[in-house]
Amino acid sequence: MTDALPPPPAFAAVANVRAGVRERADADPPAFWAEQAGRLTWDRPWDTAHDDRDWPTARWFDGGRLNVAVNCVDRHVDAGRGEKVALHWEGEPGDRRTVTYAQLHEQVQRLANGLTELGVGPGDRVVLYLPVLVETVVATMACARIGAVVSLVFGGFSADALRFRVADTGATVVVASDGQFRRGAAVPVKSVVDEAVAGLDHVAHVLVVRRTGSDDVPWTPGRDVWWHDLLDRQPAAHTAQSFPAEHPLFIVYTSGTTGRPKGLVHTSGGYLTQASWTHWALFDLRDDDVYWCQADLAWVTAHTYVLYGPLSNGATQVVYEGSPLTPHPGRHFEVIERYGVTTYYTAPTLVRTFMKHGPQLPAGHDLSSLRLLGSVGEAINPEAWRWLHEHVGGGRCPVVDTWWQSETGAAVIAPLPGVTPLKPGSATLALPGMAVAVVDDDGRETPPGVEGNLVITRPGPGMARTVWGDHDRFVRSYWAPYADRRWYLAGDSASRDEDGYVWIGGRIDDVLNVSGHRLSSIELESALVSHPRVAEAAVVGAPDDVTGQRIVAFVITRAGDADDSGLAEELRAHVATRVGAVAKPREVVVVTDLPKTRSGKIMRRLMADMTAGRGGGDTTSLTDPAAMTAVESAWTDHRRTSPGA
Ligand code: ATP
Ligand code: MG
Repeated sequence: MTDALPPPPAFAAVANVRAGVRERADADPPAFWAEQAGRLTWDRPWDTAHDDRDWPTARWFDGGRLNVAVNCVDRHVDAGRGEKVALHWEGEPGDRRTVTYAQLHEQVQRLANGLTELGVGPGDRVVLYLPVLVETVVATMACARIGAVVSLVFGGFSADALRFRVADTGATVVVASDGQFRRGAAVPVKSVVDEAVAGLDHVAHVLVVRRTGSDDVPWTPGRDVWWHDLLDRQPAAHTAQSFPAEHPLFIVYTSGTTGRPKGLVHTSGGYLTQASWTHWALFDLRDDDVYWCQADLAWVTAHTYVLYGPLSNGATQVVYEGSPLTPHPGRHFEVIERYGVTTYYTAPTLVRTFMKHGPQLPAGHDLSSLRLLGSVGEAINPEAWRWLHEHVGGGRCPVVDTWWQSETGAAVIAPLPGVTPLKPGSATLALPGMAVAVVDDDGRETPPGVEGNLVITRPGPGMARTVWGDHDRFVRSYWAPYADRRWYLAGDSASRDEDGYVWIGGRIDDVLNVSGHRLSSIELESALVSHPRVAEAAVVGAPDDVTGQRIVAFVITRAGDADDSGLAEELRAHVATRVGAVAKPREVVVVTDLPKTRSGKIMRRLMADMTAGRGGGDTTSLTDPAAMTAVESAWTDHRRTSPGA
């Protein structure tokens, strides 16, 4: 295999997963997953491991019953591990809390009683609009304990974005905080919630966690309840019931990169099986690990790899409330050093941000506790992968690049760190028990190196079962295009190399077509990011009468490089060498920021619309709408100075 990094021998020798697992799983996937379901505690065994009579909605472990919260909390305490630290929580202002499994257990039981007092029962929806707090973890577990369906909404979303999700789920309770810390400042939250739920009669209660401690929290008597008041009056013990394996557990909204967010519904037994096994396998979990996934809890990544996966495995983890750059850009490295983090799961956007600051940023901290790194959210540009591997991982830590989606519930394409040779920029191969392919519109596999549609030909048990309130959309969006073969259309373009490794090219909608050549946005961006003057890049296709599309590159230069003279020419030459002359960007626009979703994904759709003169796309998922405004003015200036481009 060319250019691949084999697993470090010492790592491989003791890894949780060794060679041969994939082959064994492929021989009988339902049996493989049934074996992994044995990691969980079931109150009643299942009758059938896998059943697709309701295709495209799968059923896993039908007939089985379990309680997800009992699996994530109680059983560790029952096994005598109550004193093990579940959470090392750190707030943005620097306040800290250590929570053991026994303490988590008590809080979850109190809140389960509290939610019951507020009238929440099995199947009812509860929306959490919270920062990354211990209470957020407690609330997800308490919902699972009583069979309520939880939906986490990013605490930085606007009233409109929150309202859409509260209304769409028909939630009866919204849990929020009085305020939150955002980049060093305390900002009010409760007033945003009041605006979001105004007139939504299904919202019976707003449960409020005191976080910033402001005095003038607007209050609606009868509806609003303080978290501490509710918990103080509850008994510390709660008897959990079990629920069917296919009982809904949570609704997670996609990040909305491509349109109106979809509320994916995930269920209990199959989802928890895939979450638990993949977390243990991908992150090579050991009992003394200090694991840290830096995703916000409202993002699907954190559902699976902070909440349900690690807790089901009884892991010790770091959870950090705030911005990675507050009060200084090395905050994450400080946190890794403080807690002796062994496993750090991050996102390409953040790696590129660190790169802007240079290798001295991680070098200022003792990161020797790290033994494994992970990446998720976007394709990681090879340049960023190598930087992470070398400057954060000291060259010794495997980098586990995990491709998956809100829809898939857990990782689908990713290396097994003790088994799979790594190639920077590729998420490698499908995990055991699942299968993927890269195909053309007729379903024929594309030859090596040729872009096509990524499909999942064999999903795992964590796959979403439907879109909340819109099953047609579930069928139409994902399953209709290859219905005859029962394949799932992921919406991403990809290619495979001679070793079968998958290289994600970007969204199908973002594929560029220049004079009949199909070009992937990720490949062009990775070429740009590999230029020493470029920190970040977003490439879109603008309509062109002659070539169909022309390539427009929006680039952020590395820190200190405000001068863009000669940059466009340099980048055109660089891309021509790296990818080919056809891939040369016709226009290069220097910007200071790029529009991104809350999870750090670049929203190319908005920029493509802008270059085509179409406006008014859905921007509710943007972390910072000001970023798009800045890009718009850079674009206007650019068109004024080079109108003939
Ligand atoms: P929407 O579906 O509303 O447009 P979204 O796709 O951004 O939103 P998510 O489910 O959070 O919402 O993101 C999944 C997508 O993120 C994948 O389809 C893929 O495009 C991208 N992605 C995630 N991880 C990786 C990875 N490791 N490599 C490449 N792309 C990735
Ligand atoms: Mg998507």
